[in-house]
Amino acid sequence: MDKWFERDLAHIWHPFTQMKDIPNFPLIFIKKAKGIKLYDDQNHAYFDTISSWWCNIHGHGHPSIMAALRKQTCELDHVLFAGFTHENAIRLSEEITALMPKLLSKVFFSDNGSTAVEVALKMAYQYWAMQNNHKTTFLSLDAGYHGDTIGTMSVSGQNSFNARFRSLCFPSLAAPAPYCYRCPFGSTSDQCQMECANELEKIMHKNHQKIAAMIIEPMVLAAGGMIVYPKIYLDRVGELCKKYDILLIADEVATGFGRTARMFAFEHSTAIPDFVCLSKGLTSGVLPMALTVTTDKIYNAFYDDHDKNKTFFHGHTFTANPLASAVGVASLDVFKKEGTLNHVQNLELYFHDQLDQFLDVPIVGDVRSIGFIGALELVSDKKRKIPVDPNARIGLQIYKKGLENGIILRPIGNVIYLFLPLCTTKNQIKTIISRLKLTLSAFDFGLI
Ligand SMILES: *Cc1c(COP(=O)(O)O)cnc(C)c1O
Repeated sequence: MDKWFERDLAHIWHPFTQMKDIPNFPLIFIKKAKGIKLYDDQNHAYFDTISSWWCNIHGHGHPSIMAALRKQTCELDHVLFAGFTHENAIRLSEEITALMPKLLSKVFFSDNGSTAVEVALKMAYQYWAMQNNHKTTFLSLDAGYHGDTIGTMSVSGQNSFNARFRSLCFPSLAAPAPYCYRCPFGSTSDQCQMECANELEKIMHKNHQKIAAMIIEPMVLAAGGMIVYPKIYLDRVGELCKKYDILLIADEVATGFGRTARMFAFEHSTAIPDFVCLSKGLTSGVLPMALTVTTDKIYNAFYDDHDKNKTFFHGHTFTANPLASAVGVASLDVFKKEGTLNHVQNLELYFHDQLDQFLDVPIVGDVRSIGFIGALELVSDKKRKIPVDPNARIGLQIYKKGLENGIILRPIGNVIYLFLPLCTTKNQIKTIISRLKLTLSAFDFGLI
């Protein structure tokens, strides 16, 4: 056993990890990263096929982003953000709001995706409280994921990750997710009557007087299993929120910054949110930072004389950290200079076609894709859509085999997926897909 391995285990508790499992799970010591590749201490290269947990956009060590960071380190490292401001926070707020519909013109900074969501929940709650309105609850999707803090768990779908903490969470309402492959209404795509949206309307109709906001991941329920859903569902969400006077929170923490081939995934639809939560890709995955973008309407409701008690009392120590802000601005510059969105739009069909081949694999029940996100849902019986046996830990076996082949396929339950950095080239996609084939062909799934 290498020394680093013992030193790690002596003091470190890894996230989402049963530490006793570490001998089964290959802990990998990464020495460096360049472009879309990570290199370990043995100098093995891995394609960063999950964008280092969905945050890398332009590749690792991007020269102009690193240069902006180095430049900023010479000028200002950190300063508190109450009573003080600085150039890159101002620039970032200007550039982000310029990318959004006009109404979304105010930006609140924080430092991770969960807090970006907490801020939106608290703003929505306080907004209605200040109107003397008893809208105090939230509506979300039963396969949604919005973070790991108590508030965000309270509006996330119930799953094995948060089950332990249920009694700590505040109550909220959940609507059935538009999970077409496993339609909760037993429908198929030809018969679909948008039963899920009708059910959503029923819930809103019954409860709108107490619903402050609906929170949703636009177009893709990411941690829920990369469930890509039809844009018309999101259109309906937008219409229904308007109809029932419910604020709409778009949690774009995973989907923001071009992942779905639009800058923000809500742009696929007609829905215009009242809040947009951003984090992961905001700094191209270089430094922690988050934003909650909202409208003048919300902002103005809080804007009053000090003694009216309408201040938004929320803030984090590292709010608008200048280094992270500089990197955020630099990442948006790269979007423009490298035509990142065009690149994704030009290649997404190729990528999706490549993925569709996997439908021929007996163990693959469903293939889902949008932008540079692609997922395979594994089943033991294709006809009856029976999920693979969770105790067999097939996802883990595929993950290990993938690592041998230089790709990272960290599974979500019975879903394996690719979440590619947006700078991935056509050739790299080709290589990654062939390694995915190679990985699956190592198993006796009777394939390809
Ligand atoms: C990852 C994620 C979060 C939480 O972000 P953290 O930075 O991990 O707290 C919230 N919402 C969505 C949609 C996410 O994918």
